[in-house]
Amino acid sequence: MDTFTLNWHITEACNFQCQYCFAKWQKREQKELLHTPAKVRLLLDEVAQLPVLLNFKTLRLNLVGGEIFLYPRDLLNIIQEAKARKMHLSAITNASLLDQHLNNLIATHFETIGFSVDSLNTATNTAIGRCTKKQAMDVAKMKAHIASIRTHNPKIQVKINTVVNLHNQGEYLGDFIQDVKPSKWKIFKMLPILDKRLAISDGEFQAFLDRHQQFASIISSENNDEMTQSYLMVDPFGRFFQNGQEQGYFYSEPIIKVGVCKALKQIPFSLEKFSRRYLMHAGL
Ligand code: SF4
Repeated sequence: MDTFTLNWHITEACNFQCQYCFAKWQKREQKELLHTPAKVRLLLDEVAQLPVLLNFKTLRLNLVGGEIFLYPRDLLNIIQEAKARKMHLSAITNASLLDQHLNNLIATHFETIGFSVDSLNTATNTAIGRCTKKQAMDVAKMKAHIASIRTHNPKIQVKINTVVNLHNQGEYLGDFIQDVKPSKWKIFKMLPILDKRLAISDGEFQAFLDRHQQFASIISSENNDEMTQSYLMVDPFGRFFQNGQEQGYFYSEPIIKVGVCKALKQIPFSLEKFSRRYLMHAGL
């Protein structure tokens, strides 16, 4: 395993309002770091040391939110700074803000692009909160964006992320998966870390997986334990954070203040769980 993946939640802002969303962090500073290019440079200088510190060859920076395309100019700056440091790039989006320009940007700069899809049903997406004030997620438009991105970059890896929760646990997403043919489909059991309202049981999660058994070769599923401490994550204010049990998140001090080595020691992170997940799911 050569590549270490760091998930940077560049912003908490999102135009959707999923009830289970865990993109909510304690704010000590007013401004998210992505809006200050000098701080972005300092942060990327620090995290660029992670592969050497953890004995990997390269770093993949996975940009997540919130919704990362709310701030395209700041996003482009991050992309350019990351590429200047030879980082591999991937991202997750809800696709609602995409247009031709952003599709080209994705196709040009990202090796992998992930789309969040919980349901093909408008009523379910609305119940989850996977909608703006005016409109629920548009599955047809997402498919068109994926096709456009692939036209520009046929080698890009398309990944689908699904969070199984109270509203979609009985549904079937196979038609969409069949159409889009993602290289990976990550299926998560909703993590009741900040909000427990849409939580489901292990049995309900397993039933969802069983219903989609025909896609087993591309599915990587994660229950709550497998998700805990197996990701290294940075919040919009430049701190490592990690899922706690009942109390939300553990935080490090800001990475650009104390340096990446000290900050890394301040949060629980299991390199063994990280490695196990990546070996099992081939780099997801
Ligand atoms: S689309 Fe993602 S970031 Fe936005 S509210 Fe839903 S889960 Fe949160």
